[in-house]
Amino acid sequence: MSNPLRSLPSVHDLLETPALREVLLSHGQDRVAAAARAVIAESRRQLLAGNSAAGQAEIGVLAQRAAEQLATELQPRLREVINATGVILHTNLGRAPMAEEAANAAQSAARGYLNLELDLETGSRSNRQDAVRGWLRQLLGAESGTVVNNNAAATVLTLRALARDREVLVSRGELVEIGGSFRIPEIMAVSGARLREVGTTNITRISDFAAAITAEAAALLRVHTSNYRVIGHAETPTLAERVRLARQHGLLMIDDVGSGALLDFQTWGLSGEPQPRESLAAGADLVLFSGDKLLGGPQCGLIAGRAELISRIERDPLMRAFRVDKMTLAALEATLRIYAAGGPALSRLPLVQMVQTPLAVLQARAEWLADALRTYSHVVSAEAKQDVAFMGGGSLPSQSMPTWVVAVKVSGVSESELARRLRTRRPEVMPRVQEGQLLLDLRTVMESQLESLRQACYAAVAAG
Ligand SMILES: *Cc1c(COP(=O)(O)O)cnc(C)c1O
Repeated sequence: MSNPLRSLPSVHDLLETPALREVLLSHGQDRVAAAARAVIAESRRQLLAGNSAAGQAEIGVLAQRAAEQLATELQPRLREVINATGVILHTNLGRAPMAEEAANAAQSAARGYLNLELDLETGSRSNRQDAVRGWLRQLLGAESGTVVNNNAAATVLTLRALARDREVLVSRGELVEIGGSFRIPEIMAVSGARLREVGTTNITRISDFAAAITAEAAALLRVHTSNYRVIGHAETPTLAERVRLARQHGLLMIDDVGSGALLDFQTWGLSGEPQPRESLAAGADLVLFSGDKLLGGPQCGLIAGRAELISRIERDPLMRAFRVDKMTLAALEATLRIYAAGGPALSRLPLVQMVQTPLAVLQARAEWLADALRTYSHVVSAEAKQDVAFMGGGSLPSQSMPTWVVAVKVSGVSESELARRLRTRRPEVMPRVQEGQLLLDLRTVMESQLESLRQACYAAVAAG
């Protein structure tokens, strides 16, 4: 009897096959040879274990296997995902999707050169912040503004530049934790400013602030309680009261508004999100907010307000560590230009599109998808129904809106297995699993993704 191991091809032979020659055009020789070696070794193990299934030693089959293995190994770890969770600012999915022109601006900045720190008129060096400063002035009525990596960095930098080794007064009702790692006492400690807690969890009066002011005080910090509310017997001073007190004592009033809505989202039923513009109008010296929450731009943190304070912040050595790159700046500028245009331009922001989509349109899409799935296979039950979608991004659960979902069941397949198939097969889909039900929420699925979503569902059903 012939020894089946003898028929195994050599690495050299494998590399000469059409399949691997093709791969060698785009991959390094070492990498391809390693894959060839690995499939041969695996085949040898199988043969020694007595598994001599047809093709185990066949050169074409092994070459194909090596090519597939390479493709899997080199597949990107960051992949596009269809968001069917109904959470619009889903932090795990990259928060706000950006407008087409913001994505294009980031792409052209990435691909080539741009006047990042160059005044095209004079040919001399400029400041990279100039590109967005003018837009911030115009949109927020601010004297000046600057951009760093995120709102956490904006807070650390502001406190460090303006209040290091001095006291910053914060209401005990506003000592927030947001997203697990942004905690006001810790942020304060990192900045070198000293936290002076004022009032109680539910009641802080302006007189509490007044009583806590000493010669050590540098600023009052208001923090928007983005992800919770104190209800019941609760009281907190208005921004105007705090501004007045700060002025009386020569202190700064710094307002961390969190999500930074440049629009009034109340139109769409989302209440209580402070707007940076209003905060400055009420007299805050500086307002801090994120770029990738309700603004709908790239991840960044914006600081706007008095020019003299902004330049002190920009002179801090940490500014260099927190500065944003050219792609972020380009995407942010493009996003701010949409707000500057206003009117119909605003619906080019995916975030606005999502909250604006009429319920009847979502219903039609949900019914279309449910019909398609039921028709596709008799093992699928799919039901379109009304549900609730959320703004997310560290906002309150009450920041919600009506939506339509498709509840999907595949007989003999658990909802967690179905969810796993949807996440891991192409195109990747992140569904919502709620009370043991797998839901596909149409509020966060863009119109251009509907067909892909249908295909993804077919693939997940067929996979069993
Ligand atoms: C989200 C949030 C932050 C943190 O912002 P990042 O941009 O995620 O760093 C800080 N403060 C408030 C009030 C927030 O809501």
